[in-house]
Amino acid sequence: MIECKNVSVTYPNAHTKALQAIDLTFKKGEFICVLGKSGAGKSTFIRCLNGLQTPTEGDVIYNGQSLRKRSEAELRKIRQHTGMIFQHFNLIPRLSVMQNVLTGMFGSRSSFKNLIGLFTKEEKSAAHDAIRSVGLDGFENRRVEQLSGGQKQRVGIARALVQQPAVLLGDEPVASLDPGTANQIFTLLRNMHDDLGLLTMINVHDLELAKKYADRVIALKDGQVIFDGPPAMFGDLE
Ligand code: ADP
Ligand code: ADP
Repeated sequence: MIECKNVSVTYPNAHTKALQAIDLTFKKGEFICVLGKSGAGKSTFIRCLNGLQTPTEGDVIYNGQSLRKRSEAELRKIRQHTGMIFQHFNLIPRLSVMQNVLTGMFGSRSSFKNLIGLFTKEEKSAAHDAIRSVGLDGFENRRVEQLSGGQKQRVGIARALVQQPAVLLGDEPVASLDPGTANQIFTLLRNMHDDLGLLTMINVHDLELAKKYADRVIALKDGQVIFDGPPAMFGDLE
């Protein structure tokens, strides 16, 4: 469903490549953790997959079509059906849980819609369902800034859910959370993944989380793939 062909990224003024000739294929139903130390290339990799970043060399094939040949409007459409969650949540702190989740619904147009309250009953109902499914029933009108880290990430996940994603990408979504909360978030992600039949790819630097939840681990070092396989095998390598 997503194929990376010889993907390299070189940032301007950088001495080394952030990604070096990555060749990987990802299929619907896979729950993948991308492991690597800070600077290994994990964020750059995730950004290449949803078209936020164009590789310096190589190409990403998304459902059979090259991302390189897509217009900005087409890329936006792909991103609209790609759920993204982030280390620092990327929510709007002063807005309510409901308003934040609704911003997932129409991408960049939604902030305008939020202001003038134009969301339909159906859209609000879909947002309610998403909020319920991440365990935040009753928190709809609470301001996001009043929530705990774990609750904020649940809002982030609900916002991704209303995008009806086929692919869910996470850039260190539990790096700011304590271990117990991180496990709760991973349990939620894994259940969601199984229920919806997603392709899920999450950056982590915690090997234990990858072992517990992923079907496949990809380890990056200095922009190169140093391991790709089942998590149990990864331990054997160390
Ligand atoms: P993390 O390790 O949590 O991914 P980073 O510090 O690597 O965070 O990156 C944070 C942000 O800074 C990212 O948006 C990344 O693109 C940018 N960034 C990282 N390294 C550099 C750099 N050498 N020059 C400019 N921007 C950078
Ligand atoms: P990770 O997510 O694993 O921490 P990144 O993808 O953020 O890794 O970074 C990979 C490499 O690219 C690092 O050496 C980082 O400093 C560099 N880098 C990341 N973003 C930028 C940027 N915007 N400009 C220049 N260098 C960057």
